[in-house]
Amino acid sequence: MDRDRTLLTPGPLTTSLRTKLAMLRDWGSWDADFNAVTAGVRARLLDIVHGQATHTVVPLQGSGTFSVEAAVATVVPRDGHVLVPDNGAYCKRAARLTQLMGRRASVLPQAEDAPVSAAQVEERLRADVSISHVVLIHCETGTGVHNPLEQVAEVCQRLGRGLIVDAMSSFGALPIDARSLRFDALVAASGKCLEGVPGMGFVVLRREVLERCAGHSQSLAMDLHEQWQYMEKTGQWRFTPPTHVVVALGEAITQYVEEGGQPARLARYADNCATLVDGMAALGFQPFLAPAVQAPIIVTFHAPADLAYDFARFYAAVKARGFLLYPGKLTTLETFRVGCIGAIGRNQMREAVAAVADAMREMGIASGKPAASVAR
Ligand SMILES: *Cc1c(COP(=O)(O)O)cnc(C)c1O
Repeated sequence: MDRDRTLLTPGPLTTSLRTKLAMLRDWGSWDADFNAVTAGVRARLLDIVHGQATHTVVPLQGSGTFSVEAAVATVVPRDGHVLVPDNGAYCKRAARLTQLMGRRASVLPQAEDAPVSAAQVEERLRADVSISHVVLIHCETGTGVHNPLEQVAEVCQRLGRGLIVDAMSSFGALPIDARSLRFDALVAASGKCLEGVPGMGFVVLRREVLERCAGHSQSLAMDLHEQWQYMEKTGQWRFTPPTHVVVALGEAITQYVEEGGQPARLARYADNCATLVDGMAALGFQPFLAPAVQAPIIVTFHAPADLAYDFARFYAAVKARGFLLYPGKLTTLETFRVGCIGAIGRNQMREAVAAVADAMREMGIASGKPAASVAR
């Protein structure tokens, strides 16, 4: 097969031809032409969350996790104390990296199939005044659950605590408005809902917070305050930038704006998600989450109870038909995940469901129905 497979994953994801073609040039990292691309990308990322008056965008080389780690180490003082409400794998990752950065981290366990409870976050913050910051995962990509960013931000503002948001899998698709939502740092990356290629993250930081962050980070390469200062002074990245990734992101943002920005992106993903869930339901598959708490980003499905099902064989059979699925991330239940994001639409989702149906026939799976014990 010489055609690229369609990636039904939460990044890297399927990109448009225009975005791929943008990577066919070489750029000098010191050159004014490339500095203009960086400045344009930073400004347009800030526009997406309406942060021009109050915030700044600091990009960072690496995958998204590098930027989460950098945001925690830059924003949280070394004697800070971070609360991480935990309803999934990316929450656990954020708590672990906070600890590894030498900051105190406390976890607030939450049910995996429900949004984080803002009331429980408030209770915990009231009970422990040593907690200086909350780290919230906006869309927990481990399951696909949509966490209540507005409510948690309101609690943090009211109680005077900092807020760091991992908006990796929601930025650009779910609405985020820095004019009405108070956060210190909000982290995302090139290769998710903006439909660029992977290789850089970026952090939207409240300027009055960032100004006070000098010396917090114990890392040379991942200090966002230093990266910001250097970039403001020189227009350049401190260390070798991922030039092709930055240029591709610029091209992807141009297409994002042409499509109609955040509302259009959300509408397309919601349509992808509905097409997927309806098509899979007709085959007997059941999502792990209730529709009301499902973000239209990635859907976790229960594995079929049929004895002929085996994820590795199922994955290979669907791949042979042109689509890449994603494994499940739950420890106690057998599941698999299907992404709704990327430069794809309703037709690709219909074709993906047809590929699943065909793979089932080949494997002798009569139905996608899960075991009765997990049915909602
Ligand atoms: C993708 C993602 C990340 C970053 O993962 P990387 O593999 O480092 O790119 C972090 N948080 C969430 C919620 C994500 O979806």
